Amino acid sequence: MKRVAIAGSTGSIGTQTLEVIAESKSQGDELYELVALSVNSSVEAVIVQAQNFKPKIVVVANESARKIVAKELAITDPKIEVAADVAQMPSIADVVVNGVVGFAGLSVTIETLKAGKRLALANKESLIAAGPIVAPLRKISGAEIVPVDSEHCAIHQCLRSSQNVSHDVARLLLTASGGPFRGRTKISLEKVTIQDALKHPTWLMGPKITIDSSTLMNKGLEVIEAHELFGLDYQCIDVVVHPQSIVHSMVEFRDGATIAQLSLPDMRLPIAYALEYPQRSAVSFGAIDWTKLSRLDFEKPDSDTFRCLDLAYAAGRIGGTAPAWLSAANEIAVEAFLAGEVQWSQISVIIEATMQHHDGLIPTQVEDILEADKVARRWARDLVRKEVAS
Ligand code: MG
Repeated sequence: MKRVAIAGSTGSIGTQTLEVIAESKSQGDELYELVALSVNSSVEAVIVQAQNFKPKIVVVANESARKIVAKELAITDPKIEVAADVAQMPSIADVVVNGVVGFAGLSVTIETLKAGKRLALANKESLIAAGPIVAPLRKISGAEIVPVDSEHCAIHQCLRSSQNVSHDVARLLLTASGGPFRGRTKISLEKVTIQDALKHPTWLMGPKITIDSSTLMNKGLEVIEAHELFGLDYQCIDVVVHPQSIVHSMVEFRDGATIAQLSLPDMRLPIAYALEYPQRSAVSFGAIDWTKLSRLDFEKPDSDTFRCLDLAYAAGRIGGTAPAWLSAANEIAVEAFLAGEVQWSQISVIIEATMQHHDGLIPTQVEDILEADKVARRWARDLVRKEVAS
């Protein structure tokens, strides 16, 4: 039995990981033992999860939330330990699923790799912000990242057709649905509402990543994520818009052949893949009914209207702490948009203006990343305030 820990267990990835575990159990396969859950502050939801799945540890970051969870579980399930820190999760698990939203997922990424365990990574921000710090940790014996982000999971699968990746690969092609505003002009996007931006055409996801999809920042962050995961230069990573979200990404090889991974948009497939790799999961998610699939479309992304894609390429090429700045500025801008403080069209403006202040620091330790994140957030908040005032 594989011991699984889930960080961010009440979010979209966390709940779908629990579905994969439950589904496998309902088919009679006792493949997984859920050993740990972690949340920030979702009290009610994590209590129910703990009561259903009986993990060994429940980590609750927020102190007052932790007290409530501890009090409740002491009555219903006194064997479950309620803890404050994610650091002890990897030691009792074989796989840690990182489904935390945003930069807050960094400690899970670092602790899991340090413990020499498999990281099933859905939290792209930790890898993007801390690429130079995470890279050496991947050399630790037993440490490995299996991507859960659907595009990178697809590339991970496609690359298995090559015996010599650095020799064989010509380029990676990340597919993008284009989000809810695909085909729209700059002017028509000036007054879109939060509800409009939250209407993703193909994927059901949390609000932060759904807004990121509407600006194409999600794809921009994924370009940096692909660079970090697979070690290819930015000139060998391209984005193609594919509105059906059936082709999850592709790899083009030197001889002209392209290998793609296709399935219906269902995150449970990449989650199960990351749990079972190098085997294939016995539980099937997202298999295609070819009698119903009539077409697959592809087009060039509109990087003039959706500025965030180029901003991400630029930050990726600068490297160092630039991706950390980009991701931090984006988190602040998206928060401000979701709070109704700024317009959707101002998100890219705030990020671009924040990047103007990037200090070029080369990170050598985690503290440098935390500091870069803090400084970038301060600049971004300042710029939000200015936008609100104007
Ligand atoms: Mg993705």
